[in-house]
Amino acid sequence: MPNLPIYLDNAATTPVDLRVVDAMLPYLTAQFGNPASGTHVFGQAASRAVERAREHVAALINAQPAEIAWTSGATESNNLAIKGAAFANARRGKHMVTVATEHKATLDTMHWLETQGFAVTVLAPESNGLISLDNFSNSLRADTVLASVMLVNNEIGVIQNVAALGRICRERGVLFHVDAAQATGKLPIDLATLPIDLMSLTAHKTYGPKGIGALYVRNAPQVRIECQMHGGGHEHGLRSGTLATHQIVGIGECFRIAREEMATEVPRIRAQRDRLWDALRALDGVRLNGDLQQRVAHNLNISIANCDLPLAALTEVAISSASACIIGQASHVIAALGDVGSSETTAMVMRITVGRFNTDADIAFAARYLHDKIKTHRAVKQKAA
Ligand SMILES: *Cc1c(COP(=O)(O)O)cnc(C)c1O
Repeated sequence: MPNLPIYLDNAATTPVDLRVVDAMLPYLTAQFGNPASGTHVFGQAASRAVERAREHVAALINAQPAEIAWTSGATESNNLAIKGAAFANARRGKHMVTVATEHKATLDTMHWLETQGFAVTVLAPESNGLISLDNFSNSLRADTVLASVMLVNNEIGVIQNVAALGRICRERGVLFHVDAAQATGKLPIDLATLPIDLMSLTAHKTYGPKGIGALYVRNAPQVRIECQMHGGGHEHGLRSGTLATHQIVGIGECFRIAREEMATEVPRIRAQRDRLWDALRALDGVRLNGDLQQRVAHNLNISIANCDLPLAALTEVAISSASACIIGQASHVIAALGDVGSSETTAMVMRITVGRFNTDADIAFAARYLHDKIKTHRAVKQKAA
């Protein structure tokens, strides 16, 4: 019998790997120095730890350590990348392109820029969640300075073709920002070959702590962005503030582990996800949201017709219906897929995301539990009707 409830909401956040906790602890105690205090061993030890972490983060995405700037997470990275590029390039143009299924950290930043005199095109995806390269290409204008497209969608797990999108941006002289918060440790990322200028990263979706992330800023060709946080000129002037050594050590360690273990972890998680899908697709009226092939291994997002079971009634499994950031609202991602996702008023949406610490016993229990709950709920409703 597995430990209940079973956590299957790993796209919202992941538990911190205990190896990461162990790596962080000394930097909260004996090694408490300020990494900017170069005059003594306390500061020097902290600074060395920060630079080691920068190497681990850069290695996971095949970038140079000097291209990594620390932030508080992907929300801040998206703000810094998008506002920073918008203001640094405003004399060239004031048009930006993004997609309706992006995270709110991107969409809300873009909408704020509209209040500052920028124009934003928000593309609709195809019904499988992917964006058409033709639509994307046609949306770029002479005054477009930046396009922002996520690598992996946080709700439906689809993987956008950022290599092709980036090539289009390069040809047209448009900067390309990619939110990769959901992609680290889930698929290989090679910035030596991908035509991407700015990439947002965060630790807490990859078994690291909350409150730490990074922005990749390409240095060849050098991408210029305007800083949003002034004071002290840390991080080459990109983001001021005393570095949170323990948090930075945490993101370094969780990305180091991700790089080492991704190849064995992903197939195991894919098999577990597929077992859940097999159990649920055996029911009538269950449909997968988002493309099944162009999709990360841990994500299952389904619409279930004739079922209005509240998620809170599923006390033994922790799952969600949408991104954790927009609790209480219908999903803007599912809505953007068109009538496929959201037409029936009594359809419920479940996002189930498997993680590193789910056992086969967890998956067997959850598959049976969810299958039975839906079946029973439908039977009771039918009787009452
Ligand atoms: C979680 C998430 C964010 C926000 O990251 P934080 O580190 O929590 O600020 C941004 N984009 C995507 C795609 C996410 O999944």
